[in-house]
Amino acid sequence: MNQPLILAIDQGTTSSRAVVFDTSAQVLASAQQEFTQQFPADGWVEHDANEIWSSVLSTCTEVIKKTRAQGKIAAVGITNQRETTVVWNRRTAQPIHNAIVWQDRRTADLCRELRDADYEKQISRHTGLLADPYFSGTKIRWLLDHVQGARAAAEAGDLAFGTIDSFLIYKLTEGAEHATDVTNASRTMLFNIHSLEWDPEMLEMLDVPRSVLPEVRNCDDTFGFASALFTDKVPITGVLGDQHAATVGQACFAPGMLKSTYGTGNFVMLNTGSKALESEHKLLTTIAYRLNGETSYALEGSVFIAGAVIQWLRDKLHIIANASDSEAIARDAELSDVVVVPAFTGLGAPHWDAEARGAIYGLTRNSGFEQIVTAALESVCFQSRDLLNAMRADGAQVENLRVDGGLAANNWAMQRLADLLDLPVQRPINVETTVLGAAVVAGLGAGLIDSLTESGEIWQLEREFTAQMNPATRDRRLELWDTAIARTRFHTDSGH
Ligand code: ADP
Repeated sequence: MNQPLILAIDQGTTSSRAVVFDTSAQVLASAQQEFTQQFPADGWVEHDANEIWSSVLSTCTEVIKKTRAQGKIAAVGITNQRETTVVWNRRTAQPIHNAIVWQDRRTADLCRELRDADYEKQISRHTGLLADPYFSGTKIRWLLDHVQGARAAAEAGDLAFGTIDSFLIYKLTEGAEHATDVTNASRTMLFNIHSLEWDPEMLEMLDVPRSVLPEVRNCDDTFGFASALFTDKVPITGVLGDQHAATVGQACFAPGMLKSTYGTGNFVMLNTGSKALESEHKLLTTIAYRLNGETSYALEGSVFIAGAVIQWLRDKLHIIANASDSEAIARDAELSDVVVVPAFTGLGAPHWDAEARGAIYGLTRNSGFEQIVTAALESVCFQSRDLLNAMRADGAQVENLRVDGGLAANNWAMQRLADLLDLPVQRPINVETTVLGAAVVAGLGAGLIDSLTESGEIWQLEREFTAQMNPATRDRRLELWDTAIARTRFHTDSGH
């Protein structure tokens, strides 16, 4: 067979995956490989970029081999963990230091200084972000300041910075291309999301020389040929960050469409169309994607603990054996006023309370493990409702919610989500939306898929959950949650 195939690379935080699709988005082969997480100090998280590269190389090689008889790879797409920062030598392609991972908090002091110096408004206006160590900008600054000789080498033009997409493009093209896409650039704190250019004021603020930066392209541009994998010319024609790829994989192409990924944490992205909404409620403004020369913006909110609260029930409380047991327990449990606030690592958007810690409220003599399991699942739904409220307060019109990630398999939780949000919740047949999104964009870039409308047809509904709870019960439950959050925060304010 000689049909054209698409190779999609999903370079995630804990593993790298390679998947080969045909042009109707059927998966023909996939491979996955984990790599080492390094924690050199409290709050520091690093990856060896060379190890990441070898995991990508071996998973790609495996799936290319597996699908050789079924067709020929005609395009490559890349999606990746965002913000993670690599600086490498242009000549040797060797990183000068381990990659600093998005979770790394080592630049917290620098971010505090930026806030104290009143930069936050400017950062938000230009980049859509907050002054937080999460983003790449302060991580580059740290590398240039702490790796011996780095700053001089950067000034001399010998060093290249990139997020993981950019490093992979450099490796795949054997040094021919130093490029990134607008979505990854929009997470660096150096990129102006309105002019779509590196922002001179941000570069000056963080003392980052322009010479290290990659060229920024549209998601569906050509990013060179993957000569490290193929002897003939196979172009890289799709690049975008993981949450952006999931937005495409969920076919959230119209303003008002919302995707919510329930993995360890919960990442929500709302398409706001050609309009970049500036958040007054501590959400991020970001580029959803730029395809066919048109930019779609998004509002984004991240919640640190979603599926992780279920892991905690299993691994720390030992009250469930498997994550999926939580569904039947919640279904059979009597309704109670127990509320779990899973603020294990503080509260993310829209509360942003780093000092808050977890709590359980409303226990009585009747409360058993069933109520705690139920409340833990419900906490995931409540946190989504807080994000949705913040988005609405920022002027967003929300029409539907599309879910994916491990916890989206839980029917009880998805029904409760629809009930509390009072919105239809849609779960697709293919919940592997991230890698699918990378394949779709690569297909569009290579002309293998004609249009977004056509790619939207790839999305198929598996199940829709609609609100059934009576409004009085809903209001009562939301009030329980709001009170619990207020108490958790009050404790923080007075206690730390
Ligand atoms: P990640 O990509 O962050 O590793 P996944 O999308 O693989 O996460 O989802 C795994 C998470 O989902 C785990 O935290 C797990 O506890 C949770 N999870 C998986 N299945 C269920 C289920 N049926 N009910 C509740 N939680 C679940």
